[in-house]
Amino acid sequence: MTVRTRFAPSPTGYLHLGGARTALFSWAYARHFGGKFILRIEDTDLERSTPEAVQAILDGMQWLGLEHDEGPFYQMKRMDRYREVIAQMLQAGTAYYCYCTPEEVEAMRERFRAAGEKPRYDGTWRPEAGKTLPPVPEGRKPVVRFRNPLDGDVTWNDVVKGPITISNRELDDLIIARQDGTPTYNFCVAIDDWDMKITHVIRGDDHVNNTPRQINILNALGATLPQYGHVPMILGADGEKLSKRHGAVSVMEYPAQGYLPEAMLNYLARLGWSHGDDEIFSMEQFVAWFDTDHLSKSPAQFNPEKLAWVNNHYIKQADNERLANLVRPVMEREGAQFEGAPPLASAIALMKDRTNTLNELADAAMLFYRQPNPEAALLAQHVTDAVKPALAQYAEQIRTVEWKKEALSAMLKQVLADHKLKMPQLAMPLRLLITGQLQTPSIDAVVELFGRETVLARLAKYL
Ligand code: GLU
Repeated sequence: MTVRTRFAPSPTGYLHLGGARTALFSWAYARHFGGKFILRIEDTDLERSTPEAVQAILDGMQWLGLEHDEGPFYQMKRMDRYREVIAQMLQAGTAYYCYCTPEEVEAMRERFRAAGEKPRYDGTWRPEAGKTLPPVPEGRKPVVRFRNPLDGDVTWNDVVKGPITISNRELDDLIIARQDGTPTYNFCVAIDDWDMKITHVIRGDDHVNNTPRQINILNALGATLPQYGHVPMILGADGEKLSKRHGAVSVMEYPAQGYLPEAMLNYLARLGWSHGDDEIFSMEQFVAWFDTDHLSKSPAQFNPEKLAWVNNHYIKQADNERLANLVRPVMEREGAQFEGAPPLASAIALMKDRTNTLNELADAAMLFYRQPNPEAALLAQHVTDAVKPALAQYAEQIRTVEWKKEALSAMLKQVLADHKLKMPQLAMPLRLLITGQLQTPSIDAVVELFGRETVLARLAKYL
């Protein structure tokens, strides 16, 4: 058997973190078993589906690198197929026309409610052996209902939650086609999973209630059932359903904020799945490890600080040229001047360890790509008469010193010793004069990267 999984988002908004995690698990499961991963766009809700949302899903999947092997299949393009199956089911007697108006159905439900029973469709138009159906009302268009089994249970062994049983008495004869002939949600999902030969349905547990309906439809069609796995939701740190209050919920806000896709994938993988205490792993490793046995039965909590920590890890690991290409546009927007300045990849090498996002990295690296403009008050505080002779000596010696960090460092120490100063007494004014700010990486590294000409020019301005 070839494992075939799918991700089946409804394009009604952005691709959110929960959706991306479902996609990741489905993708990894297929990859783990050398199977196929299918992308299906469930766009039958015409009022809520938009082309922009389809694009957002495709963009998100591409950014994360979750490549599909088949699709994207669009449900709206499969209408003929759904109609064909509905016709077959009407023929086979597993579905039937129902001519009740919505008002009549509501009245029926009200009667059950009043009698203290579960509100449901009463089966008026359900064909039974020996039953005479009411006369067809003239000019009224029917809906098509699925002939759900009346008795017995639907049971499946959920690969995440364990065995789940729902009584057929809980399930109405579901409408599978509306009056205008359009098929309904659960029906389309069942037909698609069948046609696309899906073997494992991994999805959010908000779909648990749909599963028995889909199973009954598949059984009526004689289809082989997929295995189902319902993954618990992602909650905010406060235990509430994840929402904007907890940080960005749209996947594509993360590249905009300077997150790397490998960090997002690694972080999402740990939301509801674990491999011992492993926190940091590659997707290759994840695919090798991933199975449904280690999916958690309880909801995961979204923790933005941890995501930032994971991102910091991957920024530290990332190739500097790659990072440079990612941060350059951000820095250009901030007015960075790259001409005559040190290579961006070198600046990044110096700054990246302490930044959690690419945007922070861009901000930090700006140090090398803008004219320093030290505040007068800071100049007065740090460039005092007491340190000026030492600064002058430093500026003099820097003309000839060997341009290596070690030599620069030895030279600085010598100046300190000659003037009986402590490191900050000289490092702070140097930082201020050369970069315009007091917070920088080690002054020797900064000086080395700027280069002799720039350092000399900047010191000369104030000395
Ligand atoms: N289209 C559904 C959703 O976006 C998912 C359906 C499924 O996975 O079966 O919630």
